[in-house]
Amino acid sequence: MTDYPLPAPGEITGWTTPPTDGGERLDGRSTVLLTADRLITGRRGDAPGTLEVVGDVPDVGPDGEGAGPAEAARRAGGGGAVLLDHKRILFVGTVAEAEAHLSSRTDLAVADIGRLDLPGSTLMPGLIETHDHLLTSGTAVEYPDYGPHEVARLTLNAARSARELLSVGVTSTQSLGARHYIDVAVREAIDNGDVRGPRVVASGPQITTTAGHSYHAGAEVDSLDQIRYEVRHHHKMGVDTIKVMATGGFMTGGSAPWFAQFSQGELDVLIAEAHRLGKWTAAHAHGVQGIERAVRAGVDYVAHASFITADGRSEFDPALADEMARAGVYVDCTITADMPQMLRRDDSYAPPARQLWEHGVKIVAGHDAGIPAVPQRGYVAGLEALEWVGLPRAEVILAATSRAAAAIGCAGITGVLAEGFEADLIAVAGDPRESLDALRDLTLVVTRGREFVPDRLEGVPVLLDDSLGGLGPIGPAATLGVWRTLAERRRTHPEV
Ligand SMILES: [Zn+2]
Repeated sequence: MTDYPLPAPGEITGWTTPPTDGGERLDGRSTVLLTADRLITGRRGDAPGTLEVVGDVPDVGPDGEGAGPAEAARRAGGGGAVLLDHKRILFVGTVAEAEAHLSSRTDLAVADIGRLDLPGSTLMPGLIETHDHLLTSGTAVEYPDYGPHEVARLTLNAARSARELLSVGVTSTQSLGARHYIDVAVREAIDNGDVRGPRVVASGPQITTTAGHSYHAGAEVDSLDQIRYEVRHHHKMGVDTIKVMATGGFMTGGSAPWFAQFSQGELDVLIAEAHRLGKWTAAHAHGVQGIERAVRAGVDYVAHASFITADGRSEFDPALADEMARAGVYVDCTITADMPQMLRRDDSYAPPARQLWEHGVKIVAGHDAGIPAVPQRGYVAGLEALEWVGLPRAEVILAATSRAAAAIGCAGITGVLAEGFEADLIAVAGDPRESLDALRDLTLVVTRGREFVPDRLEGVPVLLDDSLGGLGPIGPAATLGVWRTLAERRRTHPEV
């Protein structure tokens, strides 16, 4: 019998693929210096309307005129650099500063430090989706009927969504509604390295009223005791965020977005109980009554804020906007990729992102990704739509990076390229300050220090109308249509 060496307990067997498997240049277990033509930290710059930028080699395009000055600036160490150690950022500076820093450090074996140069690219924090539905498909139906395989299929959908987000440069996401707490399990699997995906901040099922908006997610409550129980149960199930449906919504037939679903007292108890347990809180709120109650209850995050009224029109309320600004609440106006197209056809539903921003409200990039017609892969188009509705480009970039991190309870962890933050970053060809389109041209995606090679993603068909094919009597146009018909009938039939 030949002598077969059995590994001792605790010994690594050596059953690993080569480090280059999958084309990953960064394995998350090394010290690596990354350099590019510039680095956007994710923070605001000193001058109004600017971003903080480290190093800035002239952007001349691949073979552009003036390539000489760009080359000279690179040779002089004028680009931006970030030094990663495992999953952390050790240092950020110009290339020259990073090289000087490296040579001054006696604790690092310089010979072991890798280097990846990305001339022509911009380094910046990984993007953040603040309002996600990982389980759902982003196609025609919110929750497809998977029969007995529902949990398994929804879990696989979530794993696919996670890869899809990373593939477009999104390295953190806040899940704001997931049946069966699947988002919690997916978060754990990603943290454990079982599947690749962005950092997930998980809410589990949205808390709503019986038959209220998204009741099908499975968390209906109708009394203070039920509210306390449901928040505590969510805590037990391991959520990070408590998401409450403060108003009705467009995607649940029979729930009116302009009416609040909970009283002030109910929301006060819900938010206080969530905060007592150390949870982040988010409220879905369309109409002013629900926005107002959520903000007064002390919620951290408001989704939608469309200011929609029973007349089916968004009617901005400046006093409420000021109250939101004073409260410091983060707001996603859910400006999706198809919003410009929707507004061109009918501008009655128009979340006032620009006006809120002018009133000092902290707008972030949340798209309700995963609901019908809003695929995860449409993230950058959603940022372009946010610019289209009036946010300056620098604000959009903040809304997708540092401010988005703060908006999902991850301030100080991600969203900024600075010493001590986790190594969630992307590199893009060109300079996104010139055009957000540059964000599509990813030259590097890194999540917690490890590179992710994007999956190939196909485009999705553009919907030509609001009917969202096959959804039946839900969706903005349908919901508004029903209410307008009711109002019109009452007006034209004043029977005695
Ligand atoms: Zn949502």
